[in-house]
Amino acid sequence: MAEADRQHQGPVVPPPDAPPAFQWPQWYQGAGGRQIAIGEIDELMRQIFEEQVPLFQGSVAAAQHSFATGANAASFVKRTALSLGAHMVGICELAPSDLYRGRAVPHRYAIALGKAMRYREFQAVPTKDSAIESVRIYHELGEICIGLADALRAEGWDAQVEHPLGDADIMHLPVAIKAGLGELGRHGSLIHPQFGPLVRLGAVLTSMPLQIDQPIDVGIGAFCDRCKACRIFCPAGAIPDQRDPSAGTDPQGNARYVVDTGRCFSYFAKHNYCSACLPVCVYNHKQWARDSLGHATRGFPEVLMQPPPEPVDSVPVSDRHRYPRIGRDGDIEATWRLKRRAR
Ligand code: SF4
Ligand code: SF4
Repeated sequence: MAEADRQHQGPVVPPPDAPPAFQWPQWYQGAGGRQIAIGEIDELMRQIFEEQVPLFQGSVAAAQHSFATGANAASFVKRTALSLGAHMVGICELAPSDLYRGRAVPHRYAIALGKAMRYREFQAVPTKDSAIESVRIYHELGEICIGLADALRAEGWDAQVEHPLGDADIMHLPVAIKAGLGELGRHGSLIHPQFGPLVRLGAVLTSMPLQIDQPIDVGIGAFCDRCKACRIFCPAGAIPDQRDPSAGTDPQGNARYVVDTGRCFSYFAKHNYCSACLPVCVYNHKQWARDSLGHATRGFPEVLMQPPPEPVDSVPVSDRHRYPRIGRDGDIEATWRLKRRAR
C-alpha cells in the first residue's frame, strides 16, 4: 500500500458557499405542515430514530488490520455490504463539494450504498403502499449502513454512518454517482443501469485506505435528453425541460438537470411523498411485467394526478439549495391541463 494511502488527509471541510442540508421543518411549515399519517411509517420512523440512531457510534477494535492493498480492502468492504443486503456498493474519495455547508468529516473515503425498492409497490403512485415502501427501504438500508460501520470498526478502522434518512453530512446523490452507482436522471435521482431509479442511497465514511471506483457513463444521461417521460408525468410540473448550464456538470461532464424543489415539495408533502417520476422512468423497463423478485406487475404505473398545490417558496434563499422556479408566471396550470389531456 502506498505511504500516501496510509496517511490520513485530515478533515474534509466544505466551501463556505456549499448548499445547506435540507431544512425539513422549514419546508413542511411552508407546505402547511406534515399531512401524511400512516401507522406503518410512524413505526418505521420510530425504529430509525429510537433504535438505529443510537447504533451509529461504536467502539473501534484496538488491533488495526492493514489490508495488503487498497483493492483487497475494497473487496472486503463490498463483500460485507452485499452480504448485509445492499444491492449496490461503490467507493469514492470525498471532496469538499460533497459536504453540506457547515459540516466537516474526519474521513477520506465514502462507501456509497444503494438498495432497490420493490416496483410492485409503485404500480400506482402516489399511494400509501409507495410511501411505506420508501420508508421501509430507508430502514433496511439504515441497518446495512450500521452493520458495515460495525464491520469496519471490528477491523480497527473508525467509521461514520450516513443514514439514508435524516441529517447526513454528505450529499448522497453526487457521492453515489462519483462512486459509480449510476447516472443522474432528468428527474434528479440516480439511475442504476440494472436496478433503474427506484433506489434509496446511504453511505459509510471511513479512513481505511480503499481502492476507489470511477463514475460510469452507459448513456443514461444522453438518453434523458431524448426521453421526457418523467417530465410529462410529474403532477407538479417540477421537472425541467432543459439542462441548466449554470448548475455545474455531473461526473459524466453533462450540465445538470435541476428539479424545481418548490413545486416538488408541496406535492410530495401532500401526496404520500409522490415519487411518481421514479416508476414512470423508462429505466424501469426490466420491472414492467415482472419485478426483480418475479412478482407479476402491470406494464406501466398508474399516476394518480391531482392539481398541484401552491409551490413552497417561503424557505429563505440562504437556507436552501438553488433551484429553478418553473411556471411561477401562471403557465403551470395550463401545463397541468395538457398533462390531463395527454394521458
Ligand atoms: S416526486 Fe413527484 S412532484 Fe417531485 S419531481 Fe417527482 S413526480 Fe414531480
Ligand atoms: S423518465 Fe426518461 S427523461 Fe426521465 S429520468 Fe427516466 S430516462 Fe431520463
